[in-house]
Amino acid sequence: MSSNSGSDSEPLLRVDDLDVHFGGNSGLLDRLFGEEQGTVRAVDGVSLDIGENDVVALVGESGCGKTTLGKAMIGLERPTGGTVRFRGQDIWKTELEEGDIPYKRIRKSLQMVHQDAGNSLDPNRTIFDNLNPALKKWRPELNLVERRELVHRMLETVGLTPSDDYASRYPHQLSGGEAQRTVIVRSMLLEPDLILADEAVSALDVSLRVNLMDQLLELQEMFATSFVFISHNMSNARYLAGKADGRIAVMYLGRIVEIGPVEEIIHNPQHPYTKSLLWATSGLSRINDPIEDPPVRSIDVPDPENPPSGCRFHTRCPEAREFCTEHDPELETAPEWLERHETACYYAHDREEYWNTQPLPDESDVGEDADATRGAAD
Ligand code: SF4
Repeated sequence: MSSNSGSDSEPLLRVDDLDVHFGGNSGLLDRLFGEEQGTVRAVDGVSLDIGENDVVALVGESGCGKTTLGKAMIGLERPTGGTVRFRGQDIWKTELEEGDIPYKRIRKSLQMVHQDAGNSLDPNRTIFDNLNPALKKWRPELNLVERRELVHRMLETVGLTPSDDYASRYPHQLSGGEAQRTVIVRSMLLEPDLILADEAVSALDVSLRVNLMDQLLELQEMFATSFVFISHNMSNARYLAGKADGRIAVMYLGRIVEIGPVEEIIHNPQHPYTKSLLWATSGLSRINDPIEDPPVRSIDVPDPENPPSGCRFHTRCPEAREFCTEHDPELETAPEWLERHETACYYAHDREEYWNTQPLPDESDVGEDADATRGAAD
């Protein structure tokens, strides 16, 4: 049983064997025989637990399914299979038939901060009028004076001072970093249990990025809110999840291929894909692998409508053997690794069946493509 999911006690959020498949235009016979055509398996059999006051960074190249997984986890994308349970209650069933925790309460508890904060603010309303409606809807016990006080307090908490000035500004009068803080305030005002931050700092320059990550961590600690932080950048993932003593989960083509405590993933990566992401990240590239060429056989990401058989990484994996083309590895831990460190790879687990087959031919086409790979993960 995975140590990152499926333990006996109920965590804040439990994702179990989750699928989100899009499209598919097969006929009845194809579906009966399991041969759907044109289906994108954006998320395919993911299990993951998020604890109370927990921080998990989901990393991977664009198109790996991390945003879709995040949205399905907080009730914004309907799964096609599996379950998402909030404190033990299936959130998608609760939408249809009320459970012990009302659906409205679950929706309020699971909030999202998008990458493009500016677009999610109404340009014709002041900052207070952007923040007030959600507060009025979700916290009806507060009167206008109390709502105003709360908004001002939160603006000050994230450094938007003097709050009187910021509350009366319009979105176009804010910088990118200030707009992002405003959107974070909007989420925090609802006192959520979990925030999904989707590339929330990517659009900012480096100094603002670090500043905003520190702010997020301060809020996370202050309100004991859990965070799922989506990023294509390993350095940001390490900074944010590392400071909160959290985990990094690495996704590839709809699956989590490695997960574990931050420094364990950085210093003791086991999956060849994690190693290639680290290699391609400035500042982390020489920690484990002092090689010049990217540790992949091919930089081409397979078509998600037609993922490779067996291990999905086998077309790019420098360690791939014939066994990997027919067998699909599952997340497993090993006694010598830190607790909660798991990876889905036969090479990492030293499987005999894997070593008994031939290596796949080397298709690496590195040299001129090295910069492209490096750019994709930075
Ligand atoms: S299972 Fe095989 S192809 Fe997949 S990552 Fe491990 S070695 Fe590479």
